[in-house]
Amino acid sequence: MKNMNQSQSSLMSLKQALEKILADITPIDMVETLTIIDAFGRVLAEPITSPLNVPPYQNSAMDGYAVRSADLPDSGDISLKLIGTSWAGTPFAGEVGEKQCVRIMTGAKMPEGANTVIMQEQVQVNDQQISIGDCHQAGQHVRHIGEDIKEGDVVLQPGKSLNAAELGLLASLGIAKVKVYRPLKAAFFSTGDELRAVGETLEEGQIYDSNRYTIFGMLKGQGVEIHDLGVIRDKREDVEAAFKRAAELADIVFTSGGVSVGDADFVKQTLEKLGTVNLWKIAMKPGKPLAFGRIDKAYFFGLPGNPVSAMATFYQVALPALHKLMGKTPQPALRLKLRCLDTLKKRPGRIDFQRGILDYEGDELVVRGVGAQGSHILSSMSRANCFIILSAEQGMVEAGSEVEVQPFSSLM
Ligand code: AMP
Ligand code: MG
Repeated sequence: MKNMNQSQSSLMSLKQALEKILADITPIDMVETLTIIDAFGRVLAEPITSPLNVPPYQNSAMDGYAVRSADLPDSGDISLKLIGTSWAGTPFAGEVGEKQCVRIMTGAKMPEGANTVIMQEQVQVNDQQISIGDCHQAGQHVRHIGEDIKEGDVVLQPGKSLNAAELGLLASLGIAKVKVYRPLKAAFFSTGDELRAVGETLEEGQIYDSNRYTIFGMLKGQGVEIHDLGVIRDKREDVEAAFKRAAELADIVFTSGGVSVGDADFVKQTLEKLGTVNLWKIAMKPGKPLAFGRIDKAYFFGLPGNPVSAMATFYQVALPALHKLMGKTPQPALRLKLRCLDTLKKRPGRIDFQRGILDYEGDELVVRGVGAQGSHILSSMSRANCFIILSAEQGMVEAGSEVEVQPFSSLM
């Protein structure tokens, strides 16, 4: 179909496609209240205000002796009387008077009267007397009330992913339960008469379906509830039934294959019947064709069939959309500028997500290409640990020049 071969100038930029897609997406509004353990990995749906000061009382940052700053000598040494101990969890009950001190442990409450801690290494102990020199500063080694967090401070905003630090932070405030967005439900299926599922025997002209497994893996890492609808034949009724079922089950539907020019085009026709669809040619490599739209209340992404294109399009286009739908506040994706040791083939026109390998050369983090960059070569994704992002304008990359790199670990 020659007339559908669009020229480069009619391609849409990745940036423009992303803007259009994100503008179309409204985050889910269903929330649930969970214990912080069950909320791990979820997206927070409420602001968290601190009910207390952290630390809640003045305490020592060191193992040592709590003293009054007024007793610190300007010169020479001074002797102080040891009157007790403040343990972490069991504070000293009395007050530190003139020329007195209290043995204190890290995290233990500062006793009344004392405002300064002398490290134990800087003290000479002689029975119930200690001797300290003139090298100390008033107020040193004391952690103050509310130094980390003040009562009433907003410590977490809605949209924040609850990871290890957030769980610890919530626990440190005594917060046992939080409101989070419910997990997204995602459904996917592959389209193609040539596709067979693992476990089946391949006949002439058939290949195994790999996209359902990469899509499963990419979604799993996002904490999404998964509905795998299998392989669907390139048959109008089958495709239509699969879309209907997917839209009933899920908030977001992914398919792969059947969106390229000259293909059976069932995907597009079916979607035009069931909902709305935009079929775009994005100026990106790999992964030019992409369908995006709605089927009933569900969002729909029609990823390209080629396995590398499906993955690249998922990470670069679908993932930001998935995050917005989950209620997540967008985070800038990590990008590094590194020296590329290989020459990379590239023609100006489309932004290119080549597969690269990040590694150290001595002390320097550098990147290499993985070799063959075909959009059907899935082993290149497995050998790689990063995308090398080459701008649309960029031509051939000379070995030794600087390139922009996006580690896979920052996407997963
Ligand atoms: P399509 O977009 O349907 O024209 O497919 C483009 C290429 O990707 C063809 O070589 C297909 O055989 C291949 N392909 C499509 N879907 C899959 C899949 N689920 N797993 C592996 N390869 C696929
Ligand atoms: Mg196909």
